[in-house]
Amino acid sequence: MRAAIIGAGIAGLACADALRAANVAVTLFDKARGIGGRMSTRRAATPRGEIAFDHGATHFTARSPAFRARVARWHAEGCAAPWPDAGQDAWIGVPTMNAPLKHMADGHDVRLGTAITALSRVDDRWFLHREKERRGPFDLAVVAIPGEQAAPLLSLHDFGMARAAMAAHSRPIWSAMFAFRQSLGNGPDFIRGPAPVIYAVRGNARPGRAEPEHWVVQADWSWSEAHLADDQATVCDLLLSELGSLIGHAVPEPCFAAAQRWMFGQPAGSELGHLWNDAIGLGACGDWLSHGFVEHAWSSGNALGAAIAAARALKAGGR
Ligand SMILES: Cc1cc2nc3c(=O)[nH]c(=O)nc-3n(C[C@H](O)[C@H](O)[C@H](O)COP(=O)(O)OP(=O)(O)OC[C@H]3O[C@@H](n4cnc5c(N)ncnc54)[C@H](O)[C@@H]3O)c2cc1C
Repeated sequence: MRAAIIGAGIAGLACADALRAANVAVTLFDKARGIGGRMSTRRAATPRGEIAFDHGATHFTARSPAFRARVARWHAEGCAAPWPDAGQDAWIGVPTMNAPLKHMADGHDVRLGTAITALSRVDDRWFLHREKERRGPFDLAVVAIPGEQAAPLLSLHDFGMARAAMAAHSRPIWSAMFAFRQSLGNGPDFIRGPAPVIYAVRGNARPGRAEPEHWVVQADWSWSEAHLADDQATVCDLLLSELGSLIGHAVPEPCFAAAQRWMFGQPAGSELGHLWNDAIGLGACGDWLSHGFVEHAWSSGNALGAAIAAARALKAGGR
């Protein structure tokens, strides 16, 4: 039994883990150069050396028993740590946010830099298309990417799934990264809002980090939507000035500044959880099917993997 998963974010990797537990061989495809999706880490060469910026999710919660157990294992393995600055139940990856995902990817066949543009089904087997190349065959296909991006892949095969994906509505988030030659002072390392900032985080103060002074400043949806067409330099200038207002004094010129526009930053979400069409072996998971947070994305992928395993076991038992 071979499964293809499109998207190596936390939802795709959670599904891959659940399928591996059911003896399904998984190949993950991701268009990015690294794994992690919106939990990825941007490594940047700065005048103060290489810095790893956690420019997507800043932290995650672990409230459901299943995800708490998963996070406890990451903690025991040294790739996640509590981060009390963001709240009693807040966690981060160590030494970088994507560390738990790298850990999950271990042992899976992961093909990076591979944007899948179409799915086809020939003689009950799945093929994945990337421009003129074709990968496969696979017995099952799982689409673990934001709803807006999933819709065209699903549309030829399951109209109900495609309709759910077309109804997904994600809001953008601008995230600005700054490195400084000196410390910005002894103020808080984690600041929540007010608008237009969601979070400002002193990255070097997070557990497991030992890098020069650097900050990530994330703007809320309304501001990000209003500034969607701005260039990186403009966004950096504006969010740097917001950082000054938050810490209460002028911020020195950064020695490095960059911004990331997350087009599908956070979905409105739904109560569907995951989607699975057992007749054709096609599934979908991700935060857009639940709530726009790490914990919910993991639960969606994990539940889909478990549902596929249960369906396969039922078929095997009935044979
Ligand atoms: C700036 C920001 C801050 C956030 N802060 C928090 C927070 O503090 N706490 C929290 O819990 N959550 C936060 N979130 C949300 C959290 O990051 C997401 O809910 C979660 O990471 C979603 O995981 P996912 O696997 O569903 O999707 P993603 O992480 O988006 O993974 C999808 C993957 O699919 C790949 N992909 C897309 N299309 C294709 C294609 N055609 N072919 C191949 N690969 C493809 C992408 O490259 C990506 O790697 C934040 C998100 C952002 C953007």
